[in-house]
Amino acid sequence: MHPIPFNKPFLTGNESIYINDVISSGRLSGNGKYTHWCQDFFCNTFGFKKCFLTTSCTDALEMSAILIDIKPGDEIILPSYTFVSSANAFMLRGAKVVFADSNKLNPNIDAQQIESLITTKTKAIVVVHYAGIACDMELIMKIASAHNLYVIEDAAQAIDSYYIYADGAQKALGSFGHLAAFSFHETKNISSGEGGMLVVNDDSFIARAETIYEKGTNRTQFLRKVVDKYQWMDIGSSFMPPEIVAAFLWAQIQELQQIQTHRKKLWNYYYSALENFSNQTGVTLPYIPQYTTHNAHIFYLVTSDSRQRDDITNKLNQSNISAYSHYQSLHNSPFYLSQHPMVSLPNAEKYTDCLLRLPLFHSLQTNDIDLIVDCLI
Ligand SMILES: *Cc1c(COP(=O)(O)O)cnc(C)c1O
Repeated sequence: MHPIPFNKPFLTGNESIYINDVISSGRLSGNGKYTHWCQDFFCNTFGFKKCFLTTSCTDALEMSAILIDIKPGDEIILPSYTFVSSANAFMLRGAKVVFADSNKLNPNIDAQQIESLITTKTKAIVVVHYAGIACDMELIMKIASAHNLYVIEDAAQAIDSYYIYADGAQKALGSFGHLAAFSFHETKNISSGEGGMLVVNDDSFIARAETIYEKGTNRTQFLRKVVDKYQWMDIGSSFMPPEIVAAFLWAQIQELQQIQTHRKKLWNYYYSALENFSNQTGVTLPYIPQYTTHNAHIFYLVTSDSRQRDDITNKLNQSNISAYSHYQSLHNSPFYLSQHPMVSLPNAEKYTDCLLRLPLFHSLQTNDIDLIVDCLI
């Protein structure tokens, strides 16, 4: 049987054309026309206030931590079942991370638990929309506003996915939080190899975000001819990607709808093909609450225990099919445990032990999915 990889980056064919355009323009650094086209697209399409392309989602999260002025001792509430960057970005500025458990029915933060974790030192809630499936944003925004906390969405996986209100209205993920961070890493639905974006939805952060983005200077105002020289105004760093990265991303953005439609078709194909298998084996399929769309970022199974996951993974691997677990919950990481006592977060631990991601990428064929499903059955 031919090997089925876990992921294969999708190329539209226009990436090299736009990159050559940048090279021949002689203007290679960031903030050129492709950067602006990408940023404008995201603002106009998803209702984001202001967008800054960054070199990664990790960088965008680090910018967020600077923007909300994290000081040593401030506390951040976030799910344990997430990528290290959701925590690191805040710890780099001295924050203490306070982990919440996942939902019983999906890996997102259990919003019901958040209030019990709030103290006088809590500064922000960081939510992660796992697999592009929304967290309970109405409840989370309500809690945040009642306690005067910032909300930062780690929307790394959540491009083109929406929260659905009871009346059917939809609002894009990444447009709820004061700040949000997206990733264009090779493994995400659209990519630039490495890349990311900071979304600023709260106007009061925009001016300072421009400064931090420009290494702590008022160069943006200088370029707008508001000031006649640019100077050191604040802390900052180098978060801006070169124009070549933006050119690559622009090619992907132009195909976004086609990419999403195709991924959803493959995701739905998996789901229908595995419904019986799920009923017979107790292996569960992704749970999508009524209040959210999803963007087919990940197709995952949750087995009943880690042995069942190992058995399934081995069976798939023997047939040359790649399948992967996902996060090692951060509350059980060597780094966290070297500084904190052990805590128990049973749902996060369940996803660490039992979640298995199946291959899902643009050039995956439905007959590949048939082979994967046959192997599982
Ligand atoms: C991919 C991912 C990141 C990191 O993105 P980079 O662009 O690689 O920095 C952060 N958080 C989550 C939830 C992710 O899936």
